[in-house]
Amino acid sequence: PAPVLELRNVSVGYESAHGMVQAVRNVSLKIYPNQIVGLVGESGSGKSTLGNAIMALLKNNAVLLGGEVLVQGQDVYKLNKKELRKFRWNRMSMVFQSAMNALNPVLTVEEQIADVFTYHRPAMSKKEIYDKAVALMKMVSIDPKHLKSYPHELSGGMRQRVVIAIALALEPDLVIMDEPTTALDVVVQKSILDKIKELQREKGFAVLFVSHDFSLVAELAEKVAIMYAGRFIEITDSKKLNLLERHHPYTEGLLGAIPELTAETVMIEGIPGNPPDLINLPTGCAYHPRCKYAFESCKTIHPVEKNVDGRLIACHLYEEEVVR
Ligand code: ATP
Ligand code: SF4
Ligand code: MG
Repeated sequence: PAPVLELRNVSVGYESAHGMVQAVRNVSLKIYPNQIVGLVGESGSGKSTLGNAIMALLKNNAVLLGGEVLVQGQDVYKLNKKELRKFRWNRMSMVFQSAMNALNPVLTVEEQIADVFTYHRPAMSKKEIYDKAVALMKMVSIDPKHLKSYPHELSGGMRQRVVIAIALALEPDLVIMDEPTTALDVVVQKSILDKIKELQREKGFAVLFVSHDFSLVAELAEKVAIMYAGRFIEITDSKKLNLLERHHPYTEGLLGAIPELTAETVMIEGIPGNPPDLINLPTGCAYHPRCKYAFESCKTIHPVEKNVDGRLIACHLYEEEVVR
């Protein structure tokens, strides 16, 4: 089948007084129907920037420096404003980071759900919209009586479920979930993830699931892209995310920092050193100042992506066939 999402050499920068912040660098990826792909990386590695770029919702000082974002074959940057507004939520949607607080505090849940339909499905009657709102609440396992509630009357977990329901309201083909459960406690987190999995299986949409939490992504996603300083340094089958397999040194570090991949919540904090300055990136491999395997070439030569046992790895330690 054709990919739902195809990223072709996407680069995104932020203009700043000190220079261009190179937040996303030359990223390529395909996500197919029914597939959940995880996106992991330390704080500041460019995950949310990429999510926003896919939605064509870049902030004011952000610039698409190059590349193409194709959703169902459509280059989202070739759509005009009106087409884009239609395209969003219908074909692709996003659960934004800290989305729990993204609901409008002065509108009831029903009003917020209704807004989506009034805007995108103007032919729908009030009654049809109400029925749809009830169905959406049931879909995310919330009692429809809460349609009358204001966001502050709901728990964090319920608010997050409402946000997910709204993201799925128009049955998009692609849903970007940016740390959808990070602010929630472990039990609530688990129930929401189970719900996401259940809905995904039922409806078959594709998901780009952004998280700090390696173990969570490994469990949820089929494929995982690991981001370092704006680049995908490895893309691997999540089944192969273990130390028995060969990985990029950064991935290996992350895996080594996790006592047990099945542990409930493991945040990525385990690697010594700090992420690089994205305005003045290190030459060669951006990871070289922190890499325990770094050798001379790493300081000067940019490592290209290579196909290593079916995994994509960008590191000089690997000599296999060059992909792309
Ligand atoms: P987190 O895990 O903390 O959410 P992230 O991986 O989502 O991090 P981004 O929010 O995409 O990271 O940020 C990528 C880089 O871009 C960071 O270095 C960040 O400081 C920088 N950045 C983000 N927004 C802006 C902005 N509006 N102007 C300048 N730099 C920005
Ligand atoms: Fe380490 Fe060199 Fe590989 Fe970069 S290219 S990860 S510095 S070994
Ligand atoms: Mg983020």
